[in-house]
Amino acid sequence: MAGTPDNPLRVAVVGSGPAGFYATGHLLAAKDVTASVDLYDRLPTPFGLVRAGVAPDHPKIKSVTKVYEKTAARDGFRFLGNVEVGRDITHAELKERYHAVIYAYGCERDRHMGIEGEDLPGSWAATEFVAWYNGHPDYQDLDFDLSAKRAVVIGNGNVAMDVARMLVLPREELEGTDTTDAAIEAIAESGVEEVVIVGRRGPAQAAFTNPELRELGELTDADVIVDPAEVELDRHSARSIEGDGEITHRRNVEILTGYAGREPVGKPKRVVMRFLRSPVAIHGDGKVESIELVHNELEHGGDGRIRAQSTGERETLECGLVFRSIGYRGAPVEGVPFDDWHGTIPNQEGRIVDPSAQNVVPGEYVAGWVKRGPSGVIGTNKRDAQETVEHVLDDLAEGRLADPRDADPDGVLALVRERQPDVVAYDGWEAIDAAEKAAGEPLGRPRVKFTRIEEMLASSRT
Ligand code: FAD
Ligand code: NAP
Repeated sequence: MAGTPDNPLRVAVVGSGPAGFYATGHLLAAKDVTASVDLYDRLPTPFGLVRAGVAPDHPKIKSVTKVYEKTAARDGFRFLGNVEVGRDITHAELKERYHAVIYAYGCERDRHMGIEGEDLPGSWAATEFVAWYNGHPDYQDLDFDLSAKRAVVIGNGNVAMDVARMLVLPREELEGTDTTDAAIEAIAESGVEEVVIVGRRGPAQAAFTNPELRELGELTDADVIVDPAEVELDRHSARSIEGDGEITHRRNVEILTGYAGREPVGKPKRVVMRFLRSPVAIHGDGKVESIELVHNELEHGGDGRIRAQSTGERETLECGLVFRSIGYRGAPVEGVPFDDWHGTIPNQEGRIVDPSAQNVVPGEYVAGWVKRGPSGVIGTNKRDAQETVEHVLDDLAEGRLADPRDADPDGVLALVRERQPDVVAYDGWEAIDAAEKAAGEPLGRPRVKFTRIEEMLASSRT
């Protein structure tokens, strides 16, 4: 049986975000099993959304990477950066070379609202804006014209908070972060004076977490504005926040009630929070000029969820920018089962399920956002990855993992290099990391990120 020093359990983990790193850490720390893990990422840089999603003005959150660095220092770890699974190596080829494959490649695509005018210039996915200001190499050619006076952010989650906050941060605060230079320049020089955050349901249903909502009330350059009439709860909402498990929602309502009672103190910018409104169309002649919203009321759905129901009443808000921040979705990898409706890989507690046969596919697993959908903070992926790895180890112990046709680590590297000569090993990433930090140091910034693959590759070779 595999899992011994002579015949280690060979696992490919696809995606080096939190889920991929936690899965790798659990495997390499497993008692009585010797594992060897190849961690693939399509980028030369690891850490997924910790690098390319978490807001640059939240540097403490990014220090979670110290845990991942410890995992990378363990025996049996190998990073294969700049290798896209599905392009540079197929699912079938991985299956032939590993006892198990764990997909942890996240949810990188955005969701659409499905409304008229959504594709007008000036209408963006939050995904694009976030990846652009964070230096993700795929998004650096986007041309954000931030000259509009009013921007509208659709959605009531923490990503909406990040986008709204970043849009009004002053230059001095941006300059101390690892926001890209292009984004610092564009945001600091932007014409945006007002950001309107629009939620389709009420304050008691908002998905914000309390610290993020509180932070919005402490911005240097922007007053936060909430209409007192919009924080008055209907009876469904009032009842829904009573339970012990509803502390986050209850506190959100308290914080928002506090905002509604505040007088603006004359800061140069405003963040306005509107509730019970859904976007129905974006209008404009060649670019975004306004957004049409329909007013909603709340009703109790049969499933216990409180839903937004249109009242038919409409209003139009002039604006030059719209950011839809309504969630992410995964993309399929050829040969791996995929649930297109949810944008995830179908699974039972991390074991991939073939939906046509309704059975578990031996040796194939999933962790993180592409397993459970795009929700949860970084730490959520730790428990999630642990559940998956426990099933890998159970399947090993029960003899359910087939021996790979070719388990030679050199063989798979040679195969990948035929298609992608610029594979970045972990020491290549460490060279990139050191160069970025060195560039940031004299400027008092945590790092200055490379934003182009070629720059990253050149730096990885030093
Ligand atoms: P990801 O982090 O997305 O990692 C997926 C990895 O897979 C990426 O590195 C990607 O390059 C790689 N990949 C994709 N396709 C392939 C492929 N075909 N082959 C090889 N590699 C591939 N949580 C917090 O706790 N605090 C925060 O402040 C916070 N801020 C956030 C801000 C934003 C904008 C977003 C979107 C999320 C934020 N989160 C935050 C949530 C947190 O980032 C997620 O819970 C977490 O990153 C999900 O981990 P994951 O590993 O599943 O996916
Ligand atoms: P989210 O928390 O799921 O929020 C999505 C929002 O979009 C919800 O308010 C949802 O409203 C709304 N929405 C969905 N479809 C809509 C539609 N068609 N029209 C209008 N509104 C729509 O997702 P997220 O903000 O992308 O965040 C993803 C995860 O990352 C979350 O778990 C979040 O906490 C985490 N994250 C954490 C931090 C942090 O800790 N600082 C920062 C960023 C992200 P309904 O509720 O009505 O569906």
